[in-house]
Amino acid sequence: MPGLPKVVITDLIVEPLDFERKVLDGHAQVTALNAMREAELEGQIEDAAALMVYHYFRLTRSSIERLKACKVIVRPGVGYDGVDIAAARECGIPVCNVPDYGTEEVADSAMGMALTLARGTHFLNSRLRRSVGEWNVDQAAPIHRLRGRVFGIIGCGRIGTAVALRAKSFGFDVRFYDPYVPDGIDKAMGITRVSCLPELLEKSHIVSLHTPLTDETRNMIGAGELAQMPQGSFLVNTSRGGVVDTGAVVDSLAAEHLAGAAIDVLEKEPPDPDSPVIVAWQDASHPAHDRLLLNPHTAFYCEEGAGEFRTKGAKEVLRALQGVPLRNVVNGVDA
Ligand code: NAD
Repeated sequence: MPGLPKVVITDLIVEPLDFERKVLDGHAQVTALNAMREAELEGQIEDAAALMVYHYFRLTRSSIERLKACKVIVRPGVGYDGVDIAAARECGIPVCNVPDYGTEEVADSAMGMALTLARGTHFLNSRLRRSVGEWNVDQAAPIHRLRGRVFGIIGCGRIGTAVALRAKSFGFDVRFYDPYVPDGIDKAMGITRVSCLPELLEKSHIVSLHTPLTDETRNMIGAGELAQMPQGSFLVNTSRGGVVDTGAVVDSLAAEHLAGAAIDVLEKEPPDPDSPVIVAWQDASHPAHDRLLLNPHTAFYCEEGAGEFRTKGAKEVLRALQGVPLRNVVNGVDA
């Protein structure tokens, strides 16, 4: 409708834009570009009053500096490493995420993957698929009782906390490393805080990652850190691919140090077909093959949550258009 401010959804979401229009009809004209590369935004976003950006590409300074009328950039999801938030801050544009649409699903996925690895379910299924003649328990050994074993959580925010609660209910000894959460949440939750990463890694039977991708967490888990984990332990990554050196994970599995790894997120998505993780996962003769569980960045997904992040993202856009205080600014710009 002419005269209404323009809201641009850059990628992932396509017509019908029913969730967004339910919130924004009468306030804005919503269009979806379905772009796969940042270059496709040229000529389409410069006059936008708001952007909603997903994760097919990174929104860099060059795009942000061309925004002449933008009141908000909304990342309708939790992680906002795909937006140059510093550039947006310099341009005075608030960036907001939607932190609360999929906490339970990511935690369920992480826990599901952890149990699937640690109970041998994935390994046994994968091995049996190649040869039904392997109908025996022998190759599963050793699988250890989970009660009392250490479940290590890196990053005890919303999702890490939800995982901690689930792991507790399974009888794990839950410990976490997170230098930024206030003292006392360990007491409140009845879990153990450790003061440094090596202390967590060296005792954990399962390590599950729940940090954002930042300069500090990039490649936080590499060959050296994997070597600190006990032989026969498991790694679950549902955070961001860049937090873990996935090639080192494959090497550790192949060397039978890690007994299993579940990967929902990769450094490059979609991955290159010849990347070490894809080769190991596809090639049944690769020594890591049966011990590698791979999902295509779907830990967050459920139908209800998808409607929720779209609706909550559109509501944040509406607040910006109406000059109402924003709820989830992540780059320190006042609305
Ligand atoms: P959150 O901000 O509530 O929690 C992140 C925690 O990580 C915080 O407590 C923070 O203090 C901690 N942290 C930051 N730097 C750290 C470091 N160097 N060492 C240890 N801890 C550190 O975020 P959340 O809602 O729990 O989400 C966590 C991450 O999960 C997101 O940033 C996102 O990248 C990822 N995620 C993935 C999916 C998926 O589908 N795979 C979906 C949603 C979120």
